[in-house]
Amino acid sequence: MEELLRRAEKLRTVGQLAAGVAHEIRNPLTTLRGFLQLQQRARTVNDTHTDIMLSELERINMIVSEFLILAKPQAVQFEIKDVRYTVGDVISLLDSEAHLHNIVFEHHFSTSPLLVHCEENQLKQVFINVLKNAMEAMPGGGRIKLQVADHDEHHIAIRFIDEGEGISKERLDKLGEPFYTSKEKGTGLGLMISQRIIEGHKGMFEIDSELGKGTTVTITLPRIKEAQEPVATTTGEEIA
Ligand code: ADP
Ligand code: MG
Repeated sequence: MEELLRRAEKLRTVGQLAAGVAHEIRNPLTTLRGFLQLQQRARTVNDTHTDIMLSELERINMIVSEFLILAKPQAVQFEIKDVRYTVGDVISLLDSEAHLHNIVFEHHFSTSPLLVHCEENQLKQVFINVLKNAMEAMPGGGRIKLQVADHDEHHIAIRFIDEGEGISKERLDKLGEPFYTSKEKGTGLGLMISQRIIEGHKGMFEIDSELGKGTTVTITLPRIKEAQEPVATTTGEEIA
């Protein structure tokens, strides 16, 4: 037990240190990007090289940003929310991008409220990560089913079902490991962060997949039976 505590403490210290470093990397990064963009506009150097440098900088920036979310203890504020609206917001956010790639979202939302105790922005981040992965797995377009429903007496479930390339058994075991990515422009941090956030909500994050068929991500969260305060101003029908 003591050993566990010591390890947790050590991890926290390393995390804080790394978050500090990540933060410090950001400023010079912004400067570099600014000057590169100037050069690009002035066309004083080879354009292809500038493009590559800019896109590599963007990659560093993405890794640092995702890392900061993970490592930095943010001021988290848990509130009671109807998770149907949280998922609904994320769908609206990604709808036009999906449309652009011939992807349609098909929703199956419970008609009664599904209340959870959550830090809504963190949950949104998880849903965005999962949906983006689903979209990226379907370069030819297709359908992504979203189910938001009762799971059991004490939990609700959110399911993202895609018709994408799927994940092989060997790769499935590696998922959630930091920096594991199969994408040229991936960071391999999205799933790890998502899993951490769901753990922080006392929920479960599961991935089922079949190569060539598609992937299903199931997130379960503890359910709150009654609202202590009004959470939604619109009715369930509008987003169903
Ligand atoms: P990234 O998207 O930056 O690669 P993630 O942590 O979000 O990082 O995902 C890690 C890897 O998991 C992806 O590179 C991909 O190989 C695999 N993956 C995640 N979601 C899906 C999905 N819906 N379909 C197929 N592969 C997936
Ligand atoms: Mg991702």
